[in-house]
Amino acid sequence: MFSTRSAMTAPIELLPREDRRERLREAGYNPFNLASRDVFVDLLTDSGTGAMSSDQWAAMLSGDEAYAGSRSFEGLERAVSDVMGFEYVLPTHQGRGAENVLYGHLLSEGDVVLNNTHFDTTRAHVAANGATPLDCPVEEATDPALDAPFKGNLDLDAARGAVSEAGAERVAAVVLTITNNSMAGQPVSVENTHAARELADDLDVPLVIDACRFAENAHFVREREPEFADSSVAEIAREQLSYADCVVMSGKKEGLSNVGGFLALRDPALKTALKPRLILYEGFPTYGGMAGRDMAAMAVGLREAVDDRRVRARVDQVRSLGDRLRERGVPVYDPVGGHAVYVDAGALFSHLDRSEFPGQALVCAAYLEGGVRTVELGSLAFPGTDRPELVRLALPRRTYHDEHLDHVAEAFGTVVERREEVAGLELVTDPDPPELRHFSAELRPVDAGVLDE
Ligand SMILES: *Cc1c(COP(=O)(O)O)cnc(C)c1O
Repeated sequence: MFSTRSAMTAPIELLPREDRRERLREAGYNPFNLASRDVFVDLLTDSGTGAMSSDQWAAMLSGDEAYAGSRSFEGLERAVSDVMGFEYVLPTHQGRGAENVLYGHLLSEGDVVLNNTHFDTTRAHVAANGATPLDCPVEEATDPALDAPFKGNLDLDAARGAVSEAGAERVAAVVLTITNNSMAGQPVSVENTHAARELADDLDVPLVIDACRFAENAHFVREREPEFADSSVAEIAREQLSYADCVVMSGKKEGLSNVGGFLALRDPALKTALKPRLILYEGFPTYGGMAGRDMAAMAVGLREAVDDRRVRARVDQVRSLGDRLRERGVPVYDPVGGHAVYVDAGALFSHLDRSEFPGQALVCAAYLEGGVRTVELGSLAFPGTDRPELVRLALPRRTYHDEHLDHVAEAFGTVVERREEVAGLELVTDPDPPELRHFSAELRPVDAGVLDE
């Protein structure tokens, strides 16, 4: 049995229902526009929102803020080498900083990048360099009701098909995102990683692993890939990452920190080639975009990330939120992923048309009923696609307790009971660019109903 007790607390308050209704209206029916003080349980993201351990806080006090050759950087190098097995580390302010440094160097106009599924910032960096991001998820991933072990995998046949269509010489990198954040946090098997390595070798391009949730992924591998049933998360993580030439990491996820990121590399020539971009966009190579104290906290966080007991408690908590929601009749994406529960709003609000943003209506109803903040990942966030109408409930690490999960399930349960009374929404403002509109768009209900009661 393993758990954590709170060493620091922060107050949260549930506003009265009429205040929540008013805040929601003022926010243009978009919880991105809400102040954190108006939110009771905040499941918007697991990025940088978790609690640090007392060992991480202690490490912060020993931060070495030297511009060059900081001891905190050396500690980070040791942690990345021990935990991930890479010799070289380029620190950045967060994951997208690492993406900018790497993809700005690797890619040129007309290139193609293959990925199990591009995360938004990855997609944006690939596109910003004039290259085409091609997603190759396995087909089973798009069915929210299908229970399968590795719905995060790269579809090798689809990838090889895309290569022959685009021309092998145009492919500049193969990327694996573990877990597959844009595919409901589903894991990638070690076997699939091996196959992706072979594809990269055939094409003579680097295999990049976006390792943001590498420990959660390793936990699923242990559960679901029989060969690894007796291995530790630390052993599986090292094995899986050993196939990659390069790792892109956001410390805000399984660096267990509030900020930070890095690139990890094996090839000294690539390190030399990336340094000018690192210095230009992030900072001198021994701090990148980070304070020494933040590197120190992230180094401790990386070691804690692969603690078997920590990962199990983490993934079990997410799964238990999924179970509580199912008990209340909420249609949940199967199986539950590593960092979040995804709810199928299209199935829940079958009376709403896609054009009425069923996912965003659910996000609003959950805030109204329980002060719970979640995020829509459907027709508002991905205009012009036919992705399922999902709403993500991301759990910050080491932050919320059983009583909060019960509260969330109860709020969603109320929404289920009153589903017919939830009206759809329409856009009042539709900001550019379309891929980023969900962060700031304002909406309003198309009919009277629960949302303006
Ligand atoms: C969060 C995330 C990133 C970007 O990291 P930031 O620290 O938010 O810049 C990249 N890839 C994946 C899969 C992520 O989840």
